[in-house]
Amino acid sequence: MELMKRRDFLTITSTVGAAALVGCAVRRPPVQTGTGGAVPTDPAGTDVRVEWAWADEERSLLEEQGPYFEVVVRGCSDTDVLRRRARPVPARLDLTAVAARMARTMVDANGVGIAGPQIGLSLRVATLMLDYKTDKPRTVFVRNPVIIERSDETVDGYEGCLSIPGVGGKVRRNSWIKVTYENEEGEKITTEAHKHNAVLWQHEIDHLDGVLYVDRLLGELMSMEEVRRRRKELDELPPEGSHIIPGSERLSIRGRLNRIWPSIHRC
Ligand SMILES: [Zn+2]
Repeated sequence: MELMKRRDFLTITSTVGAAALVGCAVRRPPVQTGTGGAVPTDPAGTDVRVEWAWADEERSLLEEQGPYFEVVVRGCSDTDVLRRRARPVPARLDLTAVAARMARTMVDANGVGIAGPQIGLSLRVATLMLDYKTDKPRTVFVRNPVIIERSDETVDGYEGCLSIPGVGGKVRRNSWIKVTYENEEGEKITTEAHKHNAVLWQHEIDHLDGVLYVDRLLGELMSMEEVRRRRKELDELPPEGSHIIPGSERLSIRGRLNRIWPSIHRC
């Protein structure tokens, strides 16, 4: 259902199936020893310049020029990039093509978010499909996102990850956050996110710090079929605030699952 919505939204045409992402579609992790020119890092135009370069593995990945990236899958070989703290993006580094490929990759894989390390770039970038639970999802490509505030209130939901295919699990996240990031024009944006969007931001920013949702798991991993079953069960609940007959089956489900809402995403 969500896949169809997203395809409509982005009008993606694909010859690469999601099945290609399930196997060991692995990129060798970038190393920090590439060569390249200096990238200006000060948008104010001063003389501050920092040497920055793509790693050799990153460069070869980018030179392939395909419409998609292959997703780095945990458990296959050479997936250190998933566990490494990604490096900041220099200002003025043109990532237009990267952003387009990441969006296509995310949609084709039926995900709602994908982070730089997941496609083999140890870089603090991510693509998120915000409002994916609504009729108007919107895809954003962000650089150097940072959570600057978060609520004390938490919420439990089910998460999955394109880099850990076939399974999902319950994770506790802050239910509200404030985030800063840079957009593709280099503007610094501050935004707030609630519920599903907040969970998505936290999941993706975790990737940039080498953290996977399984590190925060509450309970055991479960099959995606089980995750979907629980989501369907929750989807059938009446909206918050609606009249619930005490003692009804729905109420008992609500009581059992407490504050878990159907926040499932694969990213
Ligand atoms: Zn993920």
